Amino acid sequence: MAAIKHKILIVEDDPGILTFLKTTLAAEGYDVLVASRGDSALSCISSHCPDCILLDLGLPDMDGEEIIASVRKWARIPIVVISARSMEVDKAAALDAGADDYITKPFGTIELLARIRTALRHTYTRAEKDEIGLRERYCVGEMEINYKLYRVTVRGEDAHLTPNEFRIVALLGRNAGRVMTYKAILRELWGPSASMDNKILRVHMASIRRKIEPNPNEPRYIFTEVGVGYRMADSASEEGRAEPDAQPD
Ligand code: CA
Repeated sequence: MAAIKHKILIVEDDPGILTFLKTTLAAEGYDVLVASRGDSALSCISSHCPDCILLDLGLPDMDGEEIIASVRKWARIPIVVISARSMEVDKAAALDAGADDYITKPFGTIELLARIRTALRHTYTRAEKDEIGLRERYCVGEMEINYKLYRVTVRGEDAHLTPNEFRIVALLGRNAGRVMTYKAILRELWGPSASMDNKILRVHMASIRRKIEPNPNEPRYIFTEVGVGYRMADSASEEGRAEPDAQPD
């Protein structure tokens, strides 16, 4: 199975620490995004939808807690706070605001990487709980969404969806049979400040279809409701079932 390259946003105004974090995470194989201010962090989050955010609390233009609160209004992206503040009250406030974990400076590379891996795993578990209740998988036709493994398979083969592609498919699967508007999908996945341009969604969908549909031009699993949005085939109906092979008379 191809490893999914996670995108990590580092929000840190100290150039030395920023460089250290950037180098460390890039060496570990992560896609690294950086922001040194709160405003640029928020715009980066809504436009790039990172898989994890490493957040310094003391930023020049705003407090990190404001960023946590803002992100938590619309996204479950794991947030690991990195801060020189070691008091419990700060830690609790950051976690209450919605941070997933908290690491106090100075910290070691091994500890940092372990926290990030945990945060990434934790999200999947929580997403599973939050988004689909106790359901661990959704099957329709020969496609299966495994929420626990964060994976979509077709005929038992991993479709190798990217994290964002998985999120889209997972969301549609959770709402199978219902039309999800472009706006609802964009809001659900990238938050209210996300660009309302459907183009990004169409690009993702084209890629998803190439990966999961036997014939992307005649979708069997995810239907386009023209001008409105997308709908995943409902396993309770006839949809998604393989057509019997045409037999010559
Ligand atoms: Ca700082």
